[in-house]
Amino acid sequence: MKMGREAETGVELVANLHAHTPYSDGEWHRQRIAEAAARAGVDVLVVTDHNVYVRGADRFVGRVLVLAGEEVHDPTRQPQASHCLIYEAREELAPLAAKPQALIDAANARGGMAFLAHPFEVASPLTFDLLAIPWADWEVRRFAGIELWNAMSDFKARARSWPLAVFYAFFPSWALRGPFPQTLRKWDELLTSGEKVVAIGNSDAHGTVFHVGPIQRAVLGYEVLFRSVNTHLLLPRPLTGDVEADRQAVFAALRAGRCFIGYDRPASTRGFRFTAQSGAQVAGMGETLTRSGVTTLRITAPRRARLRLLRNGACIAQRTGDTLEHLALEPGSYRAEAWLDYRLARRPWVFSNPITVR
Ligand SMILES: [Zn+2]
Ligand SMILES: [Zn+2]
Repeated sequence: MKMGREAETGVELVANLHAHTPYSDGEWHRQRIAEAAARAGVDVLVVTDHNVYVRGADRFVGRVLVLAGEEVHDPTRQPQASHCLIYEAREELAPLAAKPQALIDAANARGGMAFLAHPFEVASPLTFDLLAIPWADWEVRRFAGIELWNAMSDFKARARSWPLAVFYAFFPSWALRGPFPQTLRKWDELLTSGEKVVAIGNSDAHGTVFHVGPIQRAVLGYEVLFRSVNTHLLLPRPLTGDVEADRQAVFAALRAGRCFIGYDRPASTRGFRFTAQSGAQVAGMGETLTRSGVTTLRITAPRRARLRLLRNGACIAQRTGDTLEHLALEPGSYRAEAWLDYRLARRPWVFSNPITVR
């Protein structure tokens, strides 16, 4: 069993693990995107162009670690489905796009990992560009995780009419409502069945400029999105400046699920923690704890919020405040959420990865 070292020490990095450049259908190149990420307070940016892995692109731009991943899909498939984010395979895997299980296995065999991108989506009726592209191959196994919250999917689902789309393009913070209930249900189902499935939250930024009559607007541009949905990674020690070592440390934290999804727009989620303690053992997000008697589950938030503790997908405790402590006797998959009142609605702010209590 691993100890929850990061609960006391370590370093938190804000990561955005899904963005596009002109190597596929994005507007800006790495350098400019990384500068936007730095302004938004993002520490790690993974560029995931469609069906292209850009070798040799890993580097620091200022203090932002920019890494290459790949978003693989089969462009001949109709309707479009099953986009897969590949990290750390360090090789182009697009030739396997038509065979999702072979793709996932190839990523794993190369020491990489596969995440199911925007697994549920709702089409916007407005344009062909906003079709739903869900995951359609749920029989696959051995994937590392799912993209629980994709900001562009969220926006797409809310853009039900042109007036609404234009409003949200100018005031995106009104659009974002959180992961789809179907995605959360699926994740909880997988966790409850004992699968290790790491949840991540991303921008899927393209910087695409839309034209509506005389109005031209980048709908959810890079910087706006980097200030929105991110994955906060907990590492045992700060980055060193050595790209190779730092890349490995970042992806090790991701693989372990030592991370949470933060919607940083209403307020920074930096400092959110979720731990479990039983006897002398402590576990953090992504870790497993073997009970000895009662288990104390503890949520700590950087500001007052509606805190929720869930076991196997069901809420077992909630309170408004900056901490929640709960004593549990049962094993299960425990995870934490925080919600804030923002833009006239109660909106999701944090989703932790689970702690497995045995
Ligand atoms: Zn996609
Ligand atoms: Zn994408």
